[in-house]
Amino acid sequence: MGHSVHQVNESTWIIENGGVRLFLLAGTEKALLIDSGMELHTARDIAEELTDKPVELLNTHADRDHIGSNGQFDTFYMHPREEPLYHRDGRTGTVLPVQEGDRIDLGQRVLEIIDLPGHTPGSIAVLDVKNRVLISGDPVQAHGRIFMFGSHRNMDDYVRSLTRLESFTDRFDGIWPSHGDIPAEKELIPKLRRAAESILKGEANGHTADLFGSPIMVYDFGFASFLCDP
Ligand SMILES: [Zn+2]
Repeated sequence: MGHSVHQVNESTWIIENGGVRLFLLAGTEKALLIDSGMELHTARDIAEELTDKPVELLNTHADRDHIGSNGQFDTFYMHPREEPLYHRDGRTGTVLPVQEGDRIDLGQRVLEIIDLPGHTPGSIAVLDVKNRVLISGDPVQAHGRIFMFGSHRNMDDYVRSLTRLESFTDRFDGIWPSHGDIPAEKELIPKLRRAAESILKGEANGHTADLFGSPIMVYDFGFASFLCDP
């Protein structure tokens, strides 16, 4: 699948890759690629053409659409709770564990990790502190589909994560999700949290559908939909 590059400013790029998004943030010392694509296996080459700084990789989580080019890196930042998911198909590479409160300093550009378990056990968001942008991964999406079916999803954790994320909203202005609209507004966070709570309470209206040959329940709230186990 092809890709396209959108340069946001002199040190920030968004790479679109067939429905999933990668981000490249550069500081004065190094650059960080956030996620590595779906069918894409050359994200490192793409990043190294955009910046002259050494490129490191961070994965918001280990779902397949976020790790396509991980094979180009010997090490990558990831939450330790994602390791079993990442290594399930015999994938190689060494995880540099990051979690809540950890900071990655790119040189005059500090990124802070926020844990958002629920979509996967070790989903994380990255706060670009000075630029006041939250790179949210999959848990926060505008007009996107939030996958909550399958063995490693947990809706209770998801609700707790979004509740906690609401306490960070004075530190960012916009949200850059991996899928759906970009930017997303931070007002979306309580909306998603309430929607997830209504699903947990059995108060949401869903319909069954077929995804990749498996039955799922779709809860469409307009501003986003949740795909859950039937
Ligand atoms: Zn995804």
